Amino acid sequence: MKIYLNDKLVDREDAKVSVFDHGLLYGDGIFEGIRLYDGCVFKLDEHLERLEYSAKAIMLQMPWSREEIAEAVCETCRANGLKDGYIRLVVTRGVGSLGLSIKNCDKPQLIIIADTIQLYPKEFYENGLKIITVPTRRSNPAALPPTVKSLNYLNNILAKIEAQHLGYHEAIMLNDQGYIAECTGDNVFVVHKGELITPAASAGALRGITRDTALEIAEELGIPWREANLTRYDIWVADELFLTGTAAEIVPIVEVDARPIGNGKPGPITGRFLEVFRRIVSKQGTML
Ligand code: PMP
Repeated sequence: MKIYLNDKLVDREDAKVSVFDHGLLYGDGIFEGIRLYDGCVFKLDEHLERLEYSAKAIMLQMPWSREEIAEAVCETCRANGLKDGYIRLVVTRGVGSLGLSIKNCDKPQLIIIADTIQLYPKEFYENGLKIITVPTRRSNPAALPPTVKSLNYLNNILAKIEAQHLGYHEAIMLNDQGYIAECTGDNVFVVHKGELITPAASAGALRGITRDTALEIAEELGIPWREANLTRYDIWVADELFLTGTAAEIVPIVEVDARPIGNGKPGPITGRFLEVFRRIVSKQGTML
């Protein structure tokens, strides 16, 4: 396996970063998870735009242009002979001294890993997923904005641990006001009386690339959508519920907090979204 590290491809065994890298010491860095479908990188430009916004938000100056990073992503996929897969793109603050100051970190590190993807089990899509809301709140946008896809995922990891301890794969996180923010690694959508509703980024959601795709699909299908503050009640009484994410794609949710969603089976509108999504990803993207 070849890994892209800074400006070249190296063997997996040689892909190493310093113990003084602030990405490791402080979670000081950003990342993207990207899909490769049939030799095309899905929404690469949108991912790289989000990466640039994350970099700007944390004042990390990337010395590479968007075109250079895009080429590095494609080169890494080609070098590993991939046609379908998952790409993890990481930018760390780089090596610095012990201490929070970024002053000595003058060389950000670019890491690109492209591998095959461990797909979610088929039954998640066919039968839907049962999830719960957990006590750990999504961090306040005035603290570490959840719109920044940073290397600091402890907030989400704690929520995931809570879900897993109770035997669930995913969890819904509320924000500090008690409104729905998102899942630990996915965005969440409600279908109610023919309308699609999802929490706004200001409620603590990442601006997911798959979330945007779902909104495009809503436009295509003529399904009205809006962003709104949602409570747990709104989720419990939803007709349908689904989550979206680069790895997950679109997964129907059939139970939340022991309440069945709709009739407890994946709903027809979610099914249409998944159908259109699969069609879109199979013929769109940046060719390798
Ligand atoms: N929210 C969080 C916290 C995430 O980590 C992710 C990505 N796994 C998402 C939402 C979904 O975003 P995307 O569709 O861009 O993968």
